[in-house]
Amino acid sequence: MNLNDDNYYSQEANQFFWSVSSYKDFCKCEAMAMAKIRGEFEQKQTKAMLIGTLCDRWFEGTLDKLREESPNIFFCRNGALRAEFRKADQIIKRVTQDERFMQYMSGEKQKILTFEMFGAPWKMKMDSFVKNICITDLKVVQNFKSLAFWRYDLQGAAYTEGVRIALGQDLPFYLAAATKEAVTNFDIFQIDRSTLDLALREIEGKMPRFIAVKAGLEEPHYCGVCDYCKSVKKARIRNYSELLEG
Ligand SMILES: [Zn+2]
Repeated sequence: MNLNDDNYYSQEANQFFWSVSSYKDFCKCEAMAMAKIRGEFEQKQTKAMLIGTLCDRWFEGTLDKLREESPNIFFCRNGALRAEFRKADQIIKRVTQDERFMQYMSGEKQKILTFEMFGAPWKMKMDSFVKNICITDLKVVQNFKSLAFWRYDLQGAAYTEGVRIALGQDLPFYLAAATKEAVTNFDIFQIDRSTLDLALREIEGKMPRFIAVKAGLEEPHYCGVCDYCKSVKKARIRNYSELLEG
């Protein structure tokens, strides 16, 4: 299957390929991940995610296209500009003044690669790819501390390995991070090789089970607490006192 901007996020592509987000879904809840792949469950886009999307599209140079496609992303029903858009605009204005930040974001935008890894086909899309130099992913986060929470080491591991397999280049991985704080903070974080190696081994260890689940050879595990599990659950009789524990 050949991937392009139009079919990258299609159900067909998600059924055929693995991706970092699909891998993370399987880690969270196998049943939810499978429902997503079947097109039966969709995570709602939150306002917080929208700011990131807007910044991605600005760097990609496709913000105008997005405005045409979905004007409701930018404007409220009364025609006023959405607060999330004003925040994204503020962040972009600030980081574009910084030479180093822009240097790391100056590569080829949203470059798609496909490759074989751990016995399965994978797809990936890079925010900024500077040939023979580095891979950079733009992250718009609440604050720097929250960067670690999202396990971007897994993304860095898969992306650097993907570039190594598909293009034969051993490149460093950076996060160009900007915060949504009242005054935007921003820096370039490198995820070092040993951290990426550890994350790659973690992915390798979990893939055989996930591949078997995706192929229907093993039953998916239901986590019991995610939005998908709640949407398909049946009521149980429970003891009130478990609510009082912990
Ligand atoms: Zn679940």
